Amino acid sequence: MAERFDVVVIGAGPGGFRAAKRCAQRGASVAMVEREFVGGTCLNWGCIPSKTLLASAHLLLRARHAADMGIDIPSATPNWPKIQQRREAILTGIRKGMLGTVKASKITHIEGCATVTAPGRIMVVRSVPARASQETPGGVATNDRELEAGKLILATGSESIQLRNIPFDGQVIISSKEALSLPQIPKSMLIVGGGVIGCEMACAYAAFGTKVTIVEALDRLLPMEDSWVSRLLEREFKSQGIEAITARKVMSVDQSTSPAKVSLDDGQTIEAEKVLVAVGRRPATDAQIVQALRLEMNGPAIKVNRKMETSVPGVYAVGDAVGTTNLAHGATAEGEIAAANAAGGNEEMLDYTLVPRVVFTFPEVASVGKSEEKCQAEGRDINIGKGFYRGNGRCLAENETCGQFHAVRDNAMNEIVGISMVGDMATEFVAFARTLLGTVEPIRQITFPHPTISETIEDALHEALGELLFEQ
Ligand code: FAD
Repeated sequence: MAERFDVVVIGAGPGGFRAAKRCAQRGASVAMVEREFVGGTCLNWGCIPSKTLLASAHLLLRARHAADMGIDIPSATPNWPKIQQRREAILTGIRKGMLGTVKASKITHIEGCATVTAPGRIMVVRSVPARASQETPGGVATNDRELEAGKLILATGSESIQLRNIPFDGQVIISSKEALSLPQIPKSMLIVGGGVIGCEMACAYAAFGTKVTIVEALDRLLPMEDSWVSRLLEREFKSQGIEAITARKVMSVDQSTSPAKVSLDDGQTIEAEKVLVAVGRRPATDAQIVQALRLEMNGPAIKVNRKMETSVPGVYAVGDAVGTTNLAHGATAEGEIAAANAAGGNEEMLDYTLVPRVVFTFPEVASVGKSEEKCQAEGRDINIGKGFYRGNGRCLAENETCGQFHAVRDNAMNEIVGISMVGDMATEFVAFARTLLGTVEPIRQITFPHPTISETIEDALHEALGELLFEQ
């Protein structure tokens, strides 16, 4: 007999987890179905493992430059097995914490693969790796289960895009998933794609000693950011020994030799032990679910409105499955909206430009609101204010002098409409930067503590408002 829940959530990544938690907090009976690990891509193969590797890599770079700050560290080298053990320990710890929250929230966590048999009816087939079960002793189903849902929230995530001419083999041609847990540090790596994941992996492996080459089809790295960001990053990458080849495509990989030979569209051949394909991610929507529910689609993504409602009443979709932000915090924001509406609310997703964009490269990149180039394309009359790390006392003290903040003011509206930044800790500032968007009066109330990196934001804001404190 089917078990009845007010809400069934498929997928326990950031989108599904947040939606399940919020529905439960509102008093709904909730089942959350996950076929792999709680935390989804973000916790297990995305945000957290990549940041764990990047944190070790960043420490290594700092140690190598320690002599600049009067500290002699004779040799700083990566201990790869320890780096990997640390990554695994962090993931396991967070998973345990999440499962504790699930239990405390009285969410029924069901391990298995969900299929939809009819609107409101879900079959869960148990197909979970044994390791996942060991982490959730008790309270976990061991047999297939049929569920009946008042409301259904689809949070099924995404998968790496595969290139037809160089399909993944998991050994030489790899995705970000394999790149996070390689058995050893490769001598050389060619990264196809200079987007967020490609650039982050490039920084980590270059610091660990891998000869890294990025090949990007467009004319610059991080093409979704303003071109000044790309230029600054490309310059910094060069100093880290990362070669960036732009406006070029990878045509083929010859694996008859080791290292493999990668051919580009200009005839150039580059040798690489590993070829990481990081050309983006696509929604991983199960065709069976789409057909059973007759969901309207937007290409591979589930079509939703601003309330995160799909074309089928009572069915919501969030996160990478809807292909809006491809960011974990975008997924959680959508999970909040879906949960509120599934509980009878009437909430809409905010303007997507207000979801901060973050890249954890060396230096970090972050932005929120409208970009300079977007404003220019829209014909807006804008002022751009800049603040520089190189003249900032705290940045000099920390030996982190590469960085800039740009604030974009719409002169007609007298509002700050966008902030972009490159530099140490930029990703930590972007949520604060979000609060600066809009009318300028509240900005004048802020006293920026001295000496802090945040004073570069102050410089940028003053210039954008035409109130420059110092000539820069
Ligand atoms: P997911 O996290 O993908 O979760 C979906 C879950 O659904 C999966 O666990 C899957 O097993 C489960 N599922 C799917 N189908 C079924 C089914 N039929 N039955 C049961 N379960 C099912 N974002 C950031 O914001 N910051 C970062 O620093 C960042 N770094 C990243 C680094 C890498 C290398 C990668 C790959 C991604 C990164 N992302 C980052 C993106 C982020 O991971 C995703 O945007 C986020 O995980 C999307 O959340 P989600 O809930 O939509 O889906």
